[in-house]
Amino acid sequence: MWLSMRKINEIFYSLQGEGFHTGVPAVFVRFSGCNLKCSFCDTRHEEGRLMSDEEIVEEINKYPAKTVILTGGEPGLWIDEQLIQLLHRADKYVCIETNGTQPLPVDIDWITCSPKQGGTVVLTRIDELKVVYQNQDMSIYDCFSATHYFLQPCSCKNTAEVVSYILAHPKWRLSLQTHKLIDIQ
Ligand code: SF4
Repeated sequence: MWLSMRKINEIFYSLQGEGFHTGVPAVFVRFSGCNLKCSFCDTRHEEGRLMSDEEIVEEINKYPAKTVILTGGEPGLWIDEQLIQLLHRADKYVCIETNGTQPLPVDIDWITCSPKQGGTVVLTRIDELKVVYQNQDMSIYDCFSATHYFLQPCSCKNTAEVVSYILAHPKWRLSLQTHKLIDIQ
């Protein structure tokens, strides 16, 4: 069943601050709501307004970038093949940032998964596994198969620990929240 309206918190244009596509200009579509309640969640995603697909694409097309990043909240609660097809028809490269608990349309171009405690990951493909390091037992990520593995300090506070971990476990690469470092959205 196609969704006719989707709940959007905000649509904005910026640079991707984290992970594999750091520095890439992109239109961010932040969907409202999440199925998890992480104690450290710093994203204000609760508010939102219902928008049609046409309204969403029209807003995205106001900006010149090819890359669109679906984020949240949990965007997997709101998207389907119809929206991805529309974005592809608009010649967009579609990325998603997800907690991995929802099945996703197969034709999304790039999947960044950040698994969270209490959420079972159901994805069959992960391009980028992105983890915030909080001294957790890292063996819990051994079961994930991804093309790229990124480890990120928690709010830029434990960078030295993360660097040290990566040097000892070189499967991982450093991800910094560069948007916070240079004070952009
Ligand atoms: S999965 Fe992400 S958006 Fe959802 S509550 Fe956790 S940190 Fe917040």
